Amino acid sequence: MKTPGIPELVDPTKSCEKKLTFEGAVSTENLPRFADLQMQGVGDLEVVTVKFRFDRDEQNLKVAAMSYNTSAKLPCQRCLGRVDYKIEGEVTLVFSDNEEDLELLPKSYDPVLVENQEVNLFQALEDELLLSLPMFAYHDDEHCSSELNDIKSKAEEQRADNPFAVLGELLKK
Ligand SMILES: [Zn+2]
Repeated sequence: MKTPGIPELVDPTKSCEKKLTFEGAVSTENLPRFADLQMQGVGDLEVVTVKFRFDRDEQNLKVAAMSYNTSAKLPCQRCLGRVDYKIEGEVTLVFSDNEEDLELLPKSYDPVLVENQEVNLFQALEDELLLSLPMFAYHDDEHCSSELNDIKSKAEEQRADNPFAVLGELLKK
């Protein structure tokens, strides 16, 4: 059974019984922790395409296969230019309303705590995206140096336009 769009909150028990699939796009506006780590003011925010397939596994655990795909706009740590970092993956979420039970579940699953018979799919997605981000992003060497050169030449132009700007900077120190 297939339903359109991604609801924020779902009842995992019902969703697993009915083997529901949710497929669609989540705006990064709904993923504020993920959005905050990205470069601001560089065009529209991306969406994350995601698919959740709820089911029971062979041990009768409540699980959902989650696959996701997006690109993050990260600052390059060398030249501070924008890096479009592709993020895609698939994990299996497992649901329980008992925190101790969650710790005993197979390690290949990503545990999600059920509260008031609901799970927050946006949060589960965001947690996974945050884990997928690199600590530091860099351009490929080729691309990076060109952006770096752009920045350098712009800085040199500015200096040429106004030689006193440099002097002013020095005097401030
Ligand atoms: Zn770079």
